[in-house]
Amino acid sequence: MGGGAAGPRATAPGQQLRALFYALPPGESSFRTVEEVPDYVEKSIPFFIAFIGLEFAVSWVQKRKLSGRINDGISSLSLGILSRLPDVLFRSVDLISYIYIWNSYRLFELPWDSPWTWYLTLLGVDFAYYCFHRISHEVNILWAAHQVHHSSEDYNLFTALRQSVLQKYTSWIFNLPMALFIPPSVFAVHLQFNLLYQFWIHTEVITNLGPLEWILNTPSHHRVHHGRNPYCIDKNYGGTLIIWDRIFGTFEAEDAKVVYGLTHPVNSFDPIMLQLRPLAHIWNTFWATPGFCNKLSVIFKGPGWGPGKPRLGLPEEIPVITGKEVPFNPSVPAYLNCYAVVHFAVIVDLFTELLGTVTMLSQGTVLLRIGFIILSLTSFGLLMENRPKAGILEIIRCLVFVAVYKHGYLRSQFSSLGYAYEVLFSLCAAFWGIQIMKRITSSKDKHH
Ligand SMILES: [Zn+2]
Ligand SMILES: [Zn+2]
Repeated sequence: MGGGAAGPRATAPGQQLRALFYALPPGESSFRTVEEVPDYVEKSIPFFIAFIGLEFAVSWVQKRKLSGRINDGISSLSLGILSRLPDVLFRSVDLISYIYIWNSYRLFELPWDSPWTWYLTLLGVDFAYYCFHRISHEVNILWAAHQVHHSSEDYNLFTALRQSVLQKYTSWIFNLPMALFIPPSVFAVHLQFNLLYQFWIHTEVITNLGPLEWILNTPSHHRVHHGRNPYCIDKNYGGTLIIWDRIFGTFEAEDAKVVYGLTHPVNSFDPIMLQLRPLAHIWNTFWATPGFCNKLSVIFKGPGWGPGKPRLGLPEEIPVITGKEVPFNPSVPAYLNCYAVVHFAVIVDLFTELLGTVTMLSQGTVLLRIGFIILSLTSFGLLMENRPKAGILEIIRCLVFVAVYKHGYLRSQFSSLGYAYEVLFSLCAAFWGIQIMKRITSSKDKHH
């Protein structure tokens, strides 16, 4: 790459806000080197939180209805955090592969500071996203990664952040043709803008945007994409623009009330389970299906395929929607919901602190922090499912926190909160200890 010694450029809050809507024109978002490109996604975290709050308020005013649920919201945000953890350890595979092709095989160099290059890259990244997204729905093994994003039965800004850990290891390949002529610094901007644009469209509070619906991917179009009604299946794959769906015949306008989620819901809030269960399903189907060619088809044909069926399965096998579908929603005492929200906020704080300081930490500390975050998110999932094991995991988690916090292995962004955290986790460890003791004595009483 070029010899730019500069680090990432600073972005003003107004610019950061506009980055969420693909509204930073070429003059404000063109950089000579990849190193200068701001981490727009990481800097959007406060905006994500603010917009989620705004969506709750608007939904309440419009329909007297909250736009999200605590269990589903925490599950979505947990999957969002989990999906970013590999980036803490390694530079993203999209960029590494892209820069490698650019350095070794580029045919010519489009000028990094030309608006033409900027607009061409917008189209290129969005078309690559359309191809990747469509194949992710039509090839079972890629669907196993992508389905995480579709696993929520709600549709709101939380859902936008529900991302797969594995997906980025399949999406990078679709961008490589651009590396033959588009500079990595331009690509790195649009890769982020394309992702960020897809945040605000995950909402029910915006109904229809008039003429914009012709060219842009909008909340209405993307609601269809998240539907499990038969008319919604395999439709509206666009990222920023909807023109690709219109050109290639995968467009469908919003019609009957959309019921969200997978045709066969996973019914879990455990982030690890949501990532891995579909892979386990493919593994089992692979071994249960007779014949070598059939086994290959299990992996490479559509998720609805079976021996003797067309590549994408039979449309009549998609479960019909009755309108009486009830989302997975185990009942949990109110205090546990408060508990989960408070502890989840602590994890968001620790995660943000980790992102900001990762380059200054030892590898051991980074791994410990990542391990603690994964343990916490898993534990919250079990808590929200009201599983008996959750108490045991929580006491372990609280004790680990108390043991390592003093030594600086875990840290809040706000130094003034340190003492409060220690008190909180000590009290919670004691609380779970009492709960477990109670359960042991009551089960002994039953035996007597
Ligand atoms: Zn999708
Ligand atoms: Zn989506």
